[in-house]
Amino acid sequence: MMPIAPATRRDPDRCRLCGDGRIRCLGTVPDSDYFAGRVLQHPIHGGHLWICDCCESMFRHPVLPASVYLDLYSQGTSGEWTADAGRHDLAIIRSSIGQNHGHSRVLDVGCGDGEFLSTLPAKIAKYGIEPSLAAATAARNRGVSILAPTVAQLPPQETFDVITLIDVIEHVAEPGELLDRVRAHLAPGGCLFIATGDARNVLWRRVFRSRFWYSSFAEHITFPSLRYFRMWHHGKGLQEPTAVRLKYRQMPLWKVAIYLASQLAYLASPPLLSWTARAIERLRGAPRPRRRFFSPGAPGLFTDHQIVTIQRLP
Ligand SMILES: [Zn+2]
Repeated sequence: MMPIAPATRRDPDRCRLCGDGRIRCLGTVPDSDYFAGRVLQHPIHGGHLWICDCCESMFRHPVLPASVYLDLYSQGTSGEWTADAGRHDLAIIRSSIGQNHGHSRVLDVGCGDGEFLSTLPAKIAKYGIEPSLAAATAARNRGVSILAPTVAQLPPQETFDVITLIDVIEHVAEPGELLDRVRAHLAPGGCLFIATGDARNVLWRRVFRSRFWYSSFAEHITFPSLRYFRMWHHGKGLQEPTAVRLKYRQMPLWKVAIYLASQLAYLASPPLLSWTARAIERLRGAPRPRRRFFSPGAPGLFTDHQIVTIQRLP
């Protein structure tokens, strides 16, 4: 069982986000054999979680080459990234778009099967960027115009009143590069919404560290803080970024108890959690191929998400 090897195993000498040298290792991230809704034949090496004392962001190191990630995403399942019900971040972004009557063109980067866009008012023209072939087809069937698989391939003249990066930025190795590309497509006065994990969460930084549920997914490699976005925005014709901190979704109490138990088990022993989850899958007769490595999915347990809003000057 050979893990997919990252490009390098050397420790980083600076922050992958801001370039500062004041970084600390928060521990080893366990390996994973699950990616974009698919069980992998070979697990992905987890690497380590690092934190930057300058921009307050966290990041995984080492990571795989961008072409390997794109290939893994293009084979992902169509409904992996969308589950709108009860999500606080989507409700806030949706209501903000709906209240601004000047918003007529919305681009959702990493739109998945188009579920979020399809909940916006009918008068809004809906555009998407999506690398997964299955998801892009599903989005088209919902009336979303899919413009390209990545932002880099977007026609340069296309501009939008709103651009959303929902559960996207944590998946990219170079967030500054993505933000620069996205900014070029923001119309004057237009608004960029970024929904992602909140690197300022104290439980994550101080208690769970590299065994926090959110950074355990093989797809999650970059965790930018509000301070990082504020450092990035200077000199780009943008208003100062603001952030709302929130829980990912609403959950019944019994789910809170299960998520908390699995998060605590993962903190104590990732192999124990994997062993327990494998035993449950065997008992349930879950279809093959089955995962060998498990991590807790615990969305909504803690206030560990944020919506960062960045407006372009008129
Ligand atoms: Zn940094």
